[in-house]
Amino acid sequence: MSKPRKTLWQRWRGAWRRWSLWTLLVALVVAMLVTVVWLAGRYEASQVQSRLERDTADAVSDVRVALTRNLQSLQALHADDPGVLAWEVNASELLRGHRELVRLEWRDTGMRLRSQVQTPYRPVYWDRGTRESAHSDASLACANARRLSGPAYSSSYFQPHGDGLGSEMMELCLPITSGGRNTGFLVATYALNAMLEDLVGHGLTRSQEASFTEADGTRLAVLGAARRGSRMFTATHLLDLPGATLVLRMDTWHSAPSLFPNVLTALVTAMSIALVTVMVVLVRDNRRRLRAERDLGDALAFRKAMEDSLVTGLRARDLEGRITYVNPAFCDMVGFTPQELLGLSASAPYWPPERVEEYQQRQAIRFAGYMPPREGFESEFMRKDGTRFPVLIIEAPLINAQGLHTGWMSAFLDMSEQRRIEELSRASQERLQATARLATVGEMASLLSHELNQPLAAISSYATGSLNLLETPAGAGDLPPPPESLQDVRMAMQQIGRQAERAGKVIKSVHDFVRRRDQAREAVTAQQLLDAIMPLVSLQARKIGVRVHTLVEPDLPAALCDRTMVEQVLLNLARNAMQAMDVPGISKRVLEIRARRAASNAHQAWIEFAVADLGAGIEPEVAERLFTPFFTTRAEGMGLGLSLCRTVIEQHGGFLGFAANEPRGTVFTFTLPVHQPPASSSTAS
Ligand code: ADP
Repeated sequence: MSKPRKTLWQRWRGAWRRWSLWTLLVALVVAMLVTVVWLAGRYEASQVQSRLERDTADAVSDVRVALTRNLQSLQALHADDPGVLAWEVNASELLRGHRELVRLEWRDTGMRLRSQVQTPYRPVYWDRGTRESAHSDASLACANARRLSGPAYSSSYFQPHGDGLGSEMMELCLPITSGGRNTGFLVATYALNAMLEDLVGHGLTRSQEASFTEADGTRLAVLGAARRGSRMFTATHLLDLPGATLVLRMDTWHSAPSLFPNVLTALVTAMSIALVTVMVVLVRDNRRRLRAERDLGDALAFRKAMEDSLVTGLRARDLEGRITYVNPAFCDMVGFTPQELLGLSASAPYWPPERVEEYQQRQAIRFAGYMPPREGFESEFMRKDGTRFPVLIIEAPLINAQGLHTGWMSAFLDMSEQRRIEELSRASQERLQATARLATVGEMASLLSHELNQPLAAISSYATGSLNLLETPAGAGDLPPPPESLQDVRMAMQQIGRQAERAGKVIKSVHDFVRRRDQAREAVTAQQLLDAIMPLVSLQARKIGVRVHTLVEPDLPAALCDRTMVEQVLLNLARNAMQAMDVPGISKRVLEIRARRAASNAHQAWIEFAVADLGAGIEPEVAERLFTPFFTTRAEGMGLGLSLCRTVIEQHGGFLGFAANEPRGTVFTFTLPVHQPPASSSTAS
């Protein structure tokens, strides 16, 4: 119950982490983009601002230059002491050329008006009284000019035009000197509006507005009308004139914030869009990867369920022989947990201690790169409780996704049950054979008794009859039997002889039946004999953990023998040898069956078979009676095996003997004649 809940919690945590990471990433990217766009906008604004400031400074210097020029033109009016008329003509001329000047006055040293000229463009109403007053702006300017001994400006003032409107004016007072003496003043009146129009206006763009203001920001004159809005830029520049200070202010309106205000912002926006696109692609890709991950997880779970349901044990080893994987079936089989098995390499705990060396050799061969047999091989493993059990091992190389050989995968089948069934069937087969043999013997015995019964009964009755005939009839005394009786006795004797002959024939026929086996001799190779007994031998060998080695000399000729009988001899010897090793103290159990050429004479060549074991050997007192019929040391033994074996071998003209084996145990040897092909076959060619 706790497992799925835990995985659910883990899954939720994983999802939360993934989502928070993505959210953080998106937030960071958005913040970065906003900052970049804002910075780009600010940069653009600063560009506009500095351009405006440059324009303002240029405009101020334009105004200053123009004022200086005007000053020179005004001074030129009095260059060579003109008369009033000439002055007025020249002054009118000057006013026509300079719209910013609205009026020129020639005053004497007492500030009395000598002459005056008005601009032809827009005459302004003048109140003589106020102008002549000592506190008028003109008077103040002239006082200033006198003090400075040079031109001086008055501060600006509002001049009504008489029609309800008015404009800002400013006076310039220029002292007139002649011969180093002050002879009067020239007062010029500037209209600030006209000043803006004529001196600044030419450099203005449509979106700009220029104005003269006072130091506190009060507007005195305005030129142009910038649109109002949020994107307003303002620059001010000081125009300080002798006696007066004006501020030139310029406002500009920058085009409304559009989607692509300029190349830089456009570039940044494009990059942002690209970034967002990449992020969307990334999110999609991530989602696809998550889906793939989920599919993979499902596939893994499916595979795991499959492995867990297997009854075949699975084990993987890497190229160094370390166990990297075992499935539950394998753990059940050997009784160890995966933790006890994983990572082990040199020797596994499920190897029987006495076979560790052999298994290590086998493993070394495997890791040297030799492919195991596809059909698998049999081996023996040990459970944790020490019990042994046979296994069928099928091994295959592990190839990874890159096609590299990374180790070995082995599948194990527990063969215990199969062995038990095989053993049962072998035992029942043997019992069946024994019963069959007994039945044959019994049959033969009853046949013999039946066949012999008749002649024996006949012999017995003839003998009784003869005796009766030979006996003297009562009262006959010692007289010999009559000749007719003798005749009968002779006939009876003949019958007895005939019946005895018949009994002899019956016995001979049985003997012949047994002797007929002589004709059953055939040419058989040693390998054929071994192949025939191997299935039965290995069955028993497996049961008691004996390894069987067979060794047949190459090019060994065939033997001439009764195949069935010799097989029986081999089987008997092999069985005795295995039983000799089936004792608790003996751990190394090897049965060796060899066949080779034996010493031969001119007439006959011989083949020698040897059956060697590593058992306890044969005690001298046992050795003495070994071939005696019915001698056995085993509770279930018959003691007929060896005596019959010797008979069979001797019937073939061979010899059966035994000797001590090296280093331990016994070796039984017997010889069989080599089959010699008929000589005619060699001369025929
Ligand atoms: P059985 O096998 O029925 O006992 P055998 O004639 O085959 O009869 O064997 C007689 C006895 O000889 C056995 O009981 C055993 O003691 C002894 N014997 C036979 N072969 C061996 C052997 N290879 N090693 C030790 N003892 C043996």
